[in-house]
Amino acid sequence: MRSKRRWYSILLIGVILLLASSIVGCPQPPVIAEFSANPTDINSGESATLSWSVTEATTVTIDQGIGDVPSSGTQSVSPPATTTYTLTAINSSGTVNESVEITVPPPIDELTVHFIDVGQGDSILIDLGETEILIDGGGKSPGVVTYLNQYVDEPLEVMVATHPHADHIGGLIGVLDAFEVDEIWLNGDTSTSETYSQFMSAVNSEGAQVYEARRGDTIEVGELTFSVLHPVNLSGTTNNNSIILSLSYGQVDFLFTGDAEQEAEVSMLTAGLVQDIEVLKVGHHGSKTASSPNFLNAAKPEIAIYMAGTGNSYGHPHQETIDALTQIGAEIYGTDICGTIVVTSDGESLTVQSEKQCEPEPAKFVVSGLSISPAEVRVGETVTISVTITNSGGSSGSYTAILKINGGQVETKNITLNAGESQVASFSVVKESSGIYTVELGGSAGTFTVTEKAISGALAVSASVKFPSLGGGTQTLYATVTLNGQPVQGAAVGITVYYKTVTRTFTASPTGSDGKTQISWSVGRPRGGYTVRIEVVATYQSQTASTTTGFYAP
Ligand SMILES: [Zn+2]
Repeated sequence: MRSKRRWYSILLIGVILLLASSIVGCPQPPVIAEFSANPTDINSGESATLSWSVTEATTVTIDQGIGDVPSSGTQSVSPPATTTYTLTAINSSGTVNESVEITVPPPIDELTVHFIDVGQGDSILIDLGETEILIDGGGKSPGVVTYLNQYVDEPLEVMVATHPHADHIGGLIGVLDAFEVDEIWLNGDTSTSETYSQFMSAVNSEGAQVYEARRGDTIEVGELTFSVLHPVNLSGTTNNNSIILSLSYGQVDFLFTGDAEQEAEVSMLTAGLVQDIEVLKVGHHGSKTASSPNFLNAAKPEIAIYMAGTGNSYGHPHQETIDALTQIGAEIYGTDICGTIVVTSDGESLTVQSEKQCEPEPAKFVVSGLSISPAEVRVGETVTISVTITNSGGSSGSYTAILKINGGQVETKNITLNAGESQVASFSVVKESSGIYTVELGGSAGTFTVTEKAISGALAVSASVKFPSLGGGTQTLYATVTLNGQPVQGAAVGITVYYKTVTRTFTASPTGSDGKTQISWSVGRPRGGYTVRIEVVATYQSQTASTTTGFYAP
């Protein structure tokens, strides 16, 4: 009984002490807080994880809208910009703040590059926020001012005239008139054309900074830096003196080539300036004088854009260029088909939009010129059957040529052709039995004939005629045709009968299986004292034999 009371006493004292301590504010142990973020660097749209662990706290909160949280936990966050998160842990002994910063680089602006449809000519607007750069302006008419009005926030920071041809500088005269331009980059080449003098007087009255672009120069404008890759000096043709610019935006590289041709390409290749790019403005309107294999293999563009007028008299783009671009796997766009083409990039990905539908026309096959040669053979000899297949569509594709003989399929051939290419599909056929065979190939039909094998040896014909009654009328000649002594079936036999001044010819039906045939003939009324002479000619498989018979009527 005593011991039990003592136990109660101890419990009571403990309760009193506990109450007392809370009344007088005996301090709690300090808060221990751990707070971290992983990762601490993200791109916009990605997320990071906040982790914390707090001991001895009465309340734990995290700012940035997260609020009260348990004493330990994790939270996924995806701040749109660099953000500091602060964890606050409180207990009676105080407040502890722990902060972490998650770094998010500012979002990259969208770069748009407009390959403006100016017919036969070049005009390219590069637009990043309020910064605009114009490379060439197409011809004077219709000009690009109306188009530029939608995008250019004045001033137009940079104008580049790649070279002084009218299809590049003509439209720039109107641009200089319509917009305030800060910087003008020229290649320094001159021209005797009226367009050039108008352009230069517009340049001189603009009040802009004017520069001559040379390899190694950079054009820095806003966040963009263009590198001048060409020319080194004005030693080339007008086209080959074109200013060539490269532009890198994030991971995306552009190359603007003006009307540069292979000479300029070689110069850049030799200098090691042709890097792997994403977007190529194809040189000189898609002419075969540009876009050499070495250049394209070094540049390896994913997107190739040529600028040419629909139905232009130069034949731009040349098929050779389209083939070469297809060969390296580039997606090809042309202003002649697509109208204005706009490439948009955030520095990582690319999108291409066009004014008009510009999916290339699918492959379209035209089959012509069925040839069966020779049209007649012997058993065991080869007949060659062919047609010409042309891809008159706009894309490469495969065609299956199906050869049918007497209605049955005997052979097929798969033929892959690039746009505009032609190829002959040829089949060899050997038949083991004679007959007339019908051929169907590529929608056309024809025939060939197979005859029995040639028989070697000497053809011979023998003939007899009965001495006729002299009363006239129809007579009969009997003929036998042999080859090496064996009867020949199917030989043709003809006779010519000479009597006095009369000459007449008669034809027998082909010899039968016994090699025999007979011919009815007449010459009127042969009278005594005259000779009837009959020449007999037998023909079989290109061999000929002849004999003579007849009679004398005494
Ligand atoms: Zn041009």
